[in-house]
Amino acid sequence: MSGKKRTPGMASRAIHAGEPRERYADTLTTPIFQTSTFVFKDSRDIEEYTKGNKPRFEYGRYGNPTELIAERRLADLEGAEDCLVFSSGMMAITTTILSLVKTGDHIVITDDSYKKTLEFCRSYLQRFGVECTIVPFGDYGALDRAIKKNTRFVFSESPTNPYLNVFDLVLLKKIAKKHGVMTLIDSTIATPINQRPLEYGIDLVTHSATKYLSGHNDILAGVVMGSKELIAPIRTLHKSMGGLIDAHCCYLLLRGLKTFPMRVERMNRTALKVAGFLESHPGVERVYYPFLESHQHHDIAREQMTGGGCVVTFVLKGDMAAAKRFLDSLGMIFIGPSFGGAETLITHPATVSYYDYTREQRYELGIIDTLFRLAVGLEDVDDIIDDLDRALKLAGKRKRR
Ligand SMILES: *Cc1c(COP(=O)(O)O)cnc(C)c1O
Repeated sequence: MSGKKRTPGMASRAIHAGEPRERYADTLTTPIFQTSTFVFKDSRDIEEYTKGNKPRFEYGRYGNPTELIAERRLADLEGAEDCLVFSSGMMAITTTILSLVKTGDHIVITDDSYKKTLEFCRSYLQRFGVECTIVPFGDYGALDRAIKKNTRFVFSESPTNPYLNVFDLVLLKKIAKKHGVMTLIDSTIATPINQRPLEYGIDLVTHSATKYLSGHNDILAGVVMGSKELIAPIRTLHKSMGGLIDAHCCYLLLRGLKTFPMRVERMNRTALKVAGFLESHPGVERVYYPFLESHQHHDIAREQMTGGGCVVTFVLKGDMAAAKRFLDSLGMIFIGPSFGGAETLITHPATVSYYDYTREQRYELGIIDTLFRLAVGLEDVDDIIDDLDRALKLAGKRKRR
């Protein structure tokens, strides 16, 4: 054995990273510091703090020890210098974007991004004179042409929802570097286990920690990670915006993180098996999963990702009525948004997320009547497959009156 200390693996880091070994009151688990304020011992204590000699906490909106431990642990897992935790994924995205832009700036975002992110960039930012160009996902020529002198950054999700399109991070970085613009990736669907954008030179990575990172469908949280230099101004704005996560929520995030690597590894295996099952099922028209050879970005996914994640998107054979019969025939699987939690969930974008669109508008976006997004959970893979198989059979049968 060499005397060199081994760099701990992801499973160990998800449990131990970012927390001092010497524990407050000898607790093993991270304490929930349920306080809105922190007190000074005396005038000398104030002086030491204001001179910057003694880092400490002052007021809840400026940080909390439970939150700091979560930030350090997440930074470690993503391989980032610094991390900021927020009350939701959208809070992380909007605060980050607002801290980067000023009137007269221009930003580029790909069309296959989270609906609320697109909405924020397209409508809200314009009020402040920030121009936004939306480019088709995967059209690297259009991306290259969209970047102007006043472009501040390029933002994209990868993989995307619901078709799990995968961005070529090498190409993205190459184009951004040529123009000298920043790059932001919403890596929620990939997680730091399956994709590591910072290692490709991406400047900032965001996650909705509501999904895999916390992993139990019980909290909302968000993060942004990157260099200390880039995170600092976001932290400053965060203190004004006030989208703080509370200490108890942070504890649940830390608790969820302890099993995060093993959960993702299991979901990768389950999802691949379920995707294969669906692809060979006569009641299924098409399956979208990046680690299936049939996926249009299979090669990039295999090159730049280490697992396909928990989301499997598929198209049923038949019409809207068959789609509804399928939903109504599910037993164990719950109908609901979100992914990355313990429970397997399914969404029907046509009737849920896009209910207020006309059929034409939906079809233009690829949201067809028989499209489903399945998010496999932690149940036995055979039970998930059994539930799907049963519902697919019933969907194929027309009801007799
Ligand atoms: C859920 C999600 C968000 C928003 O996160 P919230 O925690 O719900 O605010 C942003 N991006 C992606 C890719 C998501 O899946």
